[in-house]
Amino acid sequence: MAYFIKNYSLGARLAIVSREELYDVGISAAERIVIEENKITYLSDQASMGIDEVTWLRLESLHEGDILSINDRGVCYRMFDVTEGDATIFMGGKCNSNCVMCPSSDYERQEDYSGQREELLKYIDMLPQNLPHYVVTGGEPTMQPTVFLEVMEKLAEKFPEASALLLTNGRAFSSRRFLGQLIQKCPPYLVAAIPLHGAESAIHDTITRAPGSFRQTLQGIANLLDNGVAIEIRIVVTKMNCDSLESIARLICQSYPNVICVNFISLEVRGNCVKNKKTVYINPRDSFKKSKPAIDFLVENGIDVGLYNYPLCCVERGYWFLCKKSISPEKVRYGEVCQNCEAKEYCGGIFVSTLKTAHPDIAPIIFK
Ligand code: SF4
Repeated sequence: MAYFIKNYSLGARLAIVSREELYDVGISAAERIVIEENKITYLSDQASMGIDEVTWLRLESLHEGDILSINDRGVCYRMFDVTEGDATIFMGGKCNSNCVMCPSSDYERQEDYSGQREELLKYIDMLPQNLPHYVVTGGEPTMQPTVFLEVMEKLAEKFPEASALLLTNGRAFSSRRFLGQLIQKCPPYLVAAIPLHGAESAIHDTITRAPGSFRQTLQGIANLLDNGVAIEIRIVVTKMNCDSLESIARLICQSYPNVICVNFISLEVRGNCVKNKKTVYINPRDSFKKSKPAIDFLVENGIDVGLYNYPLCCVERGYWFLCKKSISPEKVRYGEVCQNCEAKEYCGGIFVSTLKTAHPDIAPIIFK
């Protein structure tokens, strides 16, 4: 979530939100920003500036303990929302694949993230010690291998009891040497979530636009499982692979029956996905229909399945229990018709970008 501080002049900072100056300095040496109705103050150097009513109304909703990254133009990103209780560790937008349906934009993938190491480590220091869950993500989070290993080690040390989810294309772990380095520094409750786009390289590599990625991803999954790292497979359902989903399910059951779950993902229509919409977009209703045989096959073979980003009205009622509320609060929206829906409180909604650009076919549910 981004905020803007008008006429900002206090320099780029990473700071924990405080509501008053009376806090225990001994708890943390981290920077704090005190937000009051007419001013903000940084406690490290007492730098302060007045804010107008509009800015106050924007910042008012921040909570004590949230972590903000503020750039020198006054644009602030809430990096950690204390009320959500889990943290995202963003390792930069770069990726060694360039998937046709990736929700990231070219700009996000091409930005220079090489100088972010210090800020990342500082951010981890600022997170509360009792964090129950965190997600390490990118881009592809292993693109700066040394920084990645350093971050994983720090996370493992600081949060030994937390569950960790690593969102990766898995390719880096085809190197046993690199995986060996991670295993030495690995958070104990780590799950690696890895997308598989096809049951053969012709489809997978066409979607990733990275020749050889299918072979590397399969090798990465095998190596991680061999080393005791739990694996979640993700199948992002597109027009390009929707007729191959059963083959993917068969491949998983034959080669990786010990994955902890397989999650089917409906598209977030943003970034490359908007650019290539004609080639990739399938609405969530058809996406579910095409996924159903593969879901049944996996369940029959004892593999847990989840459905991410599927509004309930696009899914057969008998499969609702598989639907997760997977869209984060700042990205989730509901259509006008949702006002009349009796299932709204159970529904995970739609991505704001998908609603705007793809207008998925949704219809209110009325219980009889
Ligand atoms: S109508 Fe709206 S709230 Fe109801 S299931 Fe569909 S998307 Fe969800």
